[in-house]
Amino acid sequence: MSKALQSWGRYPRVTQRAHPLVWVGEPLPQGLQGPLLPYGQGRSYGDSCLNPGGTVLTTAGLDRFLGFDPASGVLTCEAGVTLEDILRLATWQGWFLPVTPGTKFVSVGGAIANDVHGKNHHRMGTFGRHVRRFELLRSDGRRLVCSPTENADWYAATIGGLGLTGVILWAEVQLRRMSNPYIQQDTLPFANLDGFFQAAAESDADFEYTVAWVDCLSRGRKLGRGLYFRGNHAPPQFDALPLAKSHLSRKGGLSVPFDLPSFTLNRLTVAAFNALYYGKNRLGAGKTHLTHYDPFFYPLDSVHAWNRIYGRRGFLQFQCVVPHEVGGGAMREILERIAASRLASFLAVLKKFGSAPSPGLLSFPRPGVTLALDFANAGERTYRLFHELERVTREAGGAVYPAKDARMEPETFQASFPQVGAFARFVDPAFSSAFWRRVKGADAAAAAR
Ligand SMILES: Cc1cc2nc3c(=O)[nH]c(=O)nc-3n(C[C@H](O)[C@H](O)[C@H](O)COP(=O)(O)OP(=O)(O)OC[C@H]3O[C@@H](n4cnc5c(N)ncnc54)[C@H](O)[C@@H]3O)c2cc1C
Repeated sequence: MSKALQSWGRYPRVTQRAHPLVWVGEPLPQGLQGPLLPYGQGRSYGDSCLNPGGTVLTTAGLDRFLGFDPASGVLTCEAGVTLEDILRLATWQGWFLPVTPGTKFVSVGGAIANDVHGKNHHRMGTFGRHVRRFELLRSDGRRLVCSPTENADWYAATIGGLGLTGVILWAEVQLRRMSNPYIQQDTLPFANLDGFFQAAAESDADFEYTVAWVDCLSRGRKLGRGLYFRGNHAPPQFDALPLAKSHLSRKGGLSVPFDLPSFTLNRLTVAAFNALYYGKNRLGAGKTHLTHYDPFFYPLDSVHAWNRIYGRRGFLQFQCVVPHEVGGGAMREILERIAASRLASFLAVLKKFGSAPSPGLLSFPRPGVTLALDFANAGERTYRLFHELERVTREAGGAVYPAKDARMEPETFQASFPQVGAFARFVDPAFSSAFWRRVKGADAAAAAR
């Protein structure tokens, strides 16, 4: 079946074939075109879920729960089950995801293969840390049950392994307790980058969830000004709230039905949005309020297909992490370059990662400061800026996040992931991706021949 499956950023556009996986008991299909790659929900921004000229093995059909123990919170499910499915099953029984990214529309397999992180990285580390076991299917028919003690080397290679070690068929995940679906949240405005570091130093010990929005168009003394959001699960007395309904995630919501013209997002409209957003949230600062987990964790999910607001050319995200010791300086330089480029981005997120070790050989999170920003695809101007940001990150000893990436160069990948040599031994010979060929320099080598 030929299908135009894309990544979330809709850049690059590629042609690939799709083959659905439906039964965990079946071997991988034979005779498919080109290299293979698992494909979850396509919520990766760049090309790590793309396989031009090859076949993506879609996992949406692997969507069954295999077991749930409401006493221990241990959940076993097929790899195509989404985080939204898990929330629907578990929240009304008093359990929540141990770690969640900023969208619930991702599959368990995709969350493992990118070893995703959330607002509680400083407490809970990455998603992979809470995966007790999974089964991996290789193209030679081998099936490996992997855990920290069983096939531990395959476990470490597959968590954060970008779908290259085989297909994860099912996984066992430890959920975390919660008393109700509410989060106690407050917001601290900060005037500049130093203010961010101060807010983080004051908040990380007392709040499980912390993240900051940054106005990336502000410059000079206001460079890095923004809003610091922090929250904790609400304590049990709030059980008096109308629980039956409130445990359910919101359904429906707005949708972007077509690609917006590219002039919709420009420096002026983003500057106006940023000023309004900063101003409005400054007014409510200091007041703690209760909010449902859904808008707290997934504000963007309420507008379906919001990626279309960037128009037909798509968009790119840049996410990097730099070590704490150089964090302030490198972030300042990155923000200065972004502001000077005048390339608009209203989605700019800053967070301090904690020191919990990530389990995967290629896991992105590590101690340091991470910044993530979306950019409309303005062609060469955008790519040049990415190149600069990548260089600053590399020179600071940091890393660029593969799940968000569509541009990083082989040199940066090597520097970001020094364990790549050890990882490469676990790559399934029948598997590959656009990302992998790019960062291994394979596309460049082929073009040169
Ligand atoms: C709005 C938004 C917010 C986000 N916020 C965050 C965030 O806060 N933190 C964060 O870390 N990420 C974040 N992301 C990125 C997203 O969480 C990851 O890219 C996630 O891995 C996507 O999962 P997916 O199911 O869509 O997988 P896909 O994008 O389809 O695939 C991702 C990778 O997983 C592999 N894969 C998929 N299924 C399997 C399987 N069964 N077996 C083996 N490999 C598999 C694929 O080959 C690919 O390499 C965000 C994305 C969006 C759109």
